[in-house]
Amino acid sequence: MFNKKSITDIDVKNKKALVRVDFNVPIKDGVVQDDTRIVASLPTIQYLLDNGSAVILFSHLGRPKDEPDPKYSLRPVAEYLKTLVSVPVYFVDDCIGPEAEKASQQLKPGEILVLENTRFYKGESKNDLDMAKKFAALADLYVNDAFGSAHRAHASTEGVARYLPAVAGFLMEKEIRYLGQAIADPKRPFVAILGGAKVSDKIGVIENLLQKADSVLIGGGMANTFFKAQGYEMGDSLVEDEVLDIARQLIAKGTGKLRLPVDVVIANAFENDADRKVISVGSIPDGWRILDIGPETIKNYSKVIAKAGTVVWNGPMGVFEMPNFARGTFDIAKAVAESKAISIVGGGDSVAAVNQSGLAEKITHISTGGGASLEMLEGKELPGLAALMDKE
Ligand code: AMP
Repeated sequence: MFNKKSITDIDVKNKKALVRVDFNVPIKDGVVQDDTRIVASLPTIQYLLDNGSAVILFSHLGRPKDEPDPKYSLRPVAEYLKTLVSVPVYFVDDCIGPEAEKASQQLKPGEILVLENTRFYKGESKNDLDMAKKFAALADLYVNDAFGSAHRAHASTEGVARYLPAVAGFLMEKEIRYLGQAIADPKRPFVAILGGAKVSDKIGVIENLLQKADSVLIGGGMANTFFKAQGYEMGDSLVEDEVLDIARQLIAKGTGKLRLPVDVVIANAFENDADRKVISVGSIPDGWRILDIGPETIKNYSKVIAKAGTVVWNGPMGVFEMPNFARGTFDIAKAVAESKAISIVGGGDSVAAVNQSGLAEKITHISTGGGASLEMLEGKELPGLAALMDKE
């Protein structure tokens, strides 16, 4: 299933290992706000340190405009990392060039060097091969542990792998194993739950899952476009008129598999304290909008989830940021956590919902990559993974 070489397949002793991590974490006033992604990269870092590598870490952070911008510096991440490991952690304020090369040359086995944000150069997102070569010049081998960036062909995720022996880290391997298995050989019934604001973001995912899964349960704003495609008026609900035809085609293809809410919570304003009521699905009056799935839908979906062998969930069932419209999302989180299925949750909002509900421990696998996990569910090849060496 996982056919790429990983760090355990090669000799890392006394090697300089250039590790692409996903340190794209929220930072406020120079302080890391959520360390999930940093912690998730520790097993790979620790393995390399324990086995005699000098570890050079690099990552993007946020969306700087192709030039250095202190707001997006990785220095706070390097500082934070010092509190998690017991070895020296150095930081250099460039990711290529003489300063980075000097710091890399001085780095000894058992030490960590954090490079500055890769997106301070425009070559990063253009997958500029000169930049990739400069990365490669810093090390003896390349490890990609940044699953969250693996769907991008950037210099630090794809280009660099052409110039060094390139292997996967433990996080990358774990993500691919869970998601890959769910898609290729799921324990059945395989139930996919898809929510979030827009259908247009997830057309490919729905198409692929209608082939692979036994049930596809739809919630969130995207359900509205399906309702409109069925001929209902949607009042002030979020609807994507430009994909109504596609929604109709998906409904036709999805007969017997694609399930839409049977009831919804509507509100007379996009506010937590708006008047709200539960109605069966039908036309929505002007001035009202759908903001959550209803109790009957929660009950129906929960039954399907309870019988599942595999559950994959991406996207909230309603506007869960507002407590009065969060019930659908939290009750579905509960149903997923309580089911005996292999459960995989991806996408920032559904992961946040699972974390907030205190049920994260009951989920088999929480993906660290929203976009990357969606592309896997869509059946696409991830360039950052494809670029790694194949297992013999
Ligand atoms: P996405 O990034 O596509 O996963 O969408 C997540 C966003 O969808 C969240 O911010 C939710 O508030 C929003 N959302 C979910 N359901 C609805 C709805 N019925 N109407 C408007 N927005 C929604």
